[in-house]
Amino acid sequence: MSEYDSAPPEVDHEEEIPEDHPRYTDLVTRHRIEEGVKKGITHLQGMHAEGRGSAFDYLLGEETIPSADEAERAAAATFLLADHPVCSVNGNVAALVPEEIVELADVVDADLEVNLFNRTPERIEAIADHLFAHGAEQVKGIEADARLPNLEHARARVDEDGIYAADVVMVPLEDGDRAEALAAMGKTEIVIDLNPLSRSPRVADVPIVDNIVRAVPNVTAHARDLADADEAELEAIVEAFDPETALEAAEARIRRGALEE
Ligand code: ATP
Repeated sequence: MSEYDSAPPEVDHEEEIPEDHPRYTDLVTRHRIEEGVKKGITHLQGMHAEGRGSAFDYLLGEETIPSADEAERAAAATFLLADHPVCSVNGNVAALVPEEIVELADVVDADLEVNLFNRTPERIEAIADHLFAHGAEQVKGIEADARLPNLEHARARVDEDGIYAADVVMVPLEDGDRAEALAAMGKTEIVIDLNPLSRSPRVADVPIVDNIVRAVPNVTAHARDLADADEAELEAIVEAFDPETALEAAEARIRRGALEE
């Protein structure tokens, strides 16, 4: 039995997690979620969501599979073609990739909007402050002065000049009802979710079945790579991407393992 067969019992700082631990990324992810809960950024429900995600990631081989990389490129092209793109940020997103989501929004010129399933003024403020501390210049979702149709009050709240008006919305780790409500409004949806069978990726125009810690920086890298592409090239990338095929590839990898993809 190696010294790392089980997780280190408790770490106060991420830096204490040994980088050569075979489950390093998973341990860092868990630690960030725990810290998010302690700081009032992440809801306890977010911990359960992380546990589910981590199981799917294990089965995917904890890597960006080729179909996810294609989805990430299609997401970058979709963002670059948008008139008013918005990245939705919840408690897990803020805890896991604060700097990376701020960077993505900057590169594709998108708004950042805090959008919570379990919405309280304290959590909204904690998340907005966390994003400001990681370089955000503007954060929407604090007033939440508009409602998405067909959702009950608390979960329907969005900013009128943010998600409500957006043509393209990236919703990582989103609840199925809200993803469906956004799709019904005709928005182009980019969903990041490790479970290809979940409703949110299934209603997405661009479902990304990948861990958010890998997906967000990779969408940014593709966006940088495509910065000089013309509209026709971007449109060709979006048109060549098929959400069904991407979901099937991810499901095949999870069910049958790496050799089958
Ligand atoms: P459904 O959408 O079918 O209702 P659910 O109830 O499992 O599914 P939620 O709790 O609403 O889903 O959202 C959590 C989702 O986020 C899960 O599908 C989980 O796999 C995914 N998830 C959790 N952590 C990550 C992560 N780090 N990266 C990407 N996806 C993740």
